Amino acid sequence: MTGFCYRNGVLHGEAVDLRMIAGELGTPFYCYSSELIGERFAAFTDAFADMNPLVCFAAKANSNQAVLATFAGLGAGADIVSGGELARALTAGIPAHKILYSGVGKTAVEISAALEAGIGCFNVESEPELLALSSIAAARNVRAPVSFRINPDIDAHTHAKISTGKYEDKFGIPIGDARRLYAEAARLPGIDVVGVDAHIGSQITCLEPFDSLAVKLAELAGDLIRDGHALRHLDFGGGLGVSYLPGEPPAPTPEQYAAVVRRRIRHLSLKPVFEIGRFFVGPAGVLVTKVLYIKKGRNRTFVIVDAAMNDLIRPTLYDAYHHIQPVEKVATEMPAEVVDVVGPVCETGDFLALQRSLPPLRPGDLLAVMTAGAYGAVQAGTYNSRPLVPEVMIRGEAFAVIRPRPSYEDMILLDRLPPWLQPS
Ligand SMILES: *Cc1c(COP(=O)(O)O)cnc(C)c1O
Repeated sequence: MTGFCYRNGVLHGEAVDLRMIAGELGTPFYCYSSELIGERFAAFTDAFADMNPLVCFAAKANSNQAVLATFAGLGAGADIVSGGELARALTAGIPAHKILYSGVGKTAVEISAALEAGIGCFNVESEPELLALSSIAAARNVRAPVSFRINPDIDAHTHAKISTGKYEDKFGIPIGDARRLYAEAARLPGIDVVGVDAHIGSQITCLEPFDSLAVKLAELAGDLIRDGHALRHLDFGGGLGVSYLPGEPPAPTPEQYAAVVRRRIRHLSLKPVFEIGRFFVGPAGVLVTKVLYIKKGRNRTFVIVDAAMNDLIRPTLYDAYHHIQPVEKVATEMPAEVVDVVGPVCETGDFLALQRSLPPLRPGDLLAVMTAGAYGAVQAGTYNSRPLVPEVMIRGEAFAVIRPRPSYEDMILLDRLPPWLQPS
C-alpha cells in the first residue's frame, strides 16, 4: 500500500505506523511516502510516453535533498528558480542538461553558476534579463540555451496568489511581443534559442486553461519556426492540480492532460517539457501534529495543536483547505464537533483549519494534516523562535529522518553577537 492509509484503525505511511515516528521524533513533523512520489511520477510520465517528454520536478514544491535525490533516481529533470535550487538539484544528482531555470529575478552570480554547470535551458522572463544573459554568456565564450516564458493572458481559474499567466502577473513576456523578442534573441552573441515556455499557475483543476495554453503555444511555435528559429522543445510549465478533499474528483488526470497536449502539438516535431511540482509531491506528504489543549470559547471551540502557520502557511496564505484526520481512528458514538484547529503562534492568522467538523479530540491525540507534501516544509520558518519542523521519508517498512529537528542551540548559533555585545 503506498501513501497514507489506515491499518487497524491507525494511519500508516506505507507500512510505517505514524505513532511510532511521533514517539521517536516528537511532533510536529512532515512525513513523505517515497513510493507514492514514484507512482505519481510514473503515472504522469506514462501518460505522455508516446511524446518522449522531458518531465522535470519543480524543486520549489519540496526541495529536501532526499526528495530531489528520489526524483534523480526516477530520471526526472528539475525546474529551478534560484541559485540555491541549482546547487540542491546538482548535489542531488539531477543531470545539468535536464535542469531548467525559471524566475523573474535571476542575478548575475546565479546566471554564471548555471552557465558553468551547463544547464539545459534558461526560461527568460524579460528583455533586460535576455540582454544580461547574453553578455554574461558571451564574456564566457558560450551561448546560453534560451526559451522565453510566454505570458499568454490566460485565466487559470485558481487562487489569485498562485495565478501567473495573466497580464497583471509579473511573469513572462506578453505573447504579442514574442516574435520581436525571439528575433532580437537570435541576433545576440550569447544566446541560442531552443524553445518556448509558459507556466500559467498552480493548482489548476480544469482542463480548459491547459487547452487554451496548448493552442496558443502551438500557434506561436509554428510562427517562430516559420520565422527561422530552430526550436527543439515546448515547455508547458506545471500547475496540474490535486484534490485536497477526500472524495473530491481528482483534477484533470495525466491522461486527459496528455490528450489535450497531443491533439494541439501533433503537427509540430517538438519535445514537450513539463515542470510539475504539486501533482508529484502534494498527496505524498502529511504534517503530523499533536493536540495540546481543547479550549472552549464563547462561541467557538479551539483545538490547539503543536504545529502552526510557521510550519504550514498554506491555510492562512492561500485560504487552502487541508483535510485533517486523527492518526488513531476515534471509535466513539459522540458526534463530530465543529472546531478551529489553531497553532501556538501569536497571530490570529495562525490556523490550520477553521470551522472544521472533527471527531471529539483529547489532548495528546495525533492529527495528520493531509496533502502537505508540496509547498509545506519549504515555506516553513522559525517565527516565534519555533525550530524548523523536521522531515521524514518512508519507504516500505523503513523510515529515515531527512531533516532533523534543530535544537534551540542550533537555532541560536545562526545569529552572531557584534563585538560590543560580546561578554569580555
Ligand atoms: C511553481 C512553478 C512550477 C510548479 O507548479 P506546480 O503547480 O507545483 O506544478 C512550475 N514552473 C514554474 C516556473 C513555477 O514557478
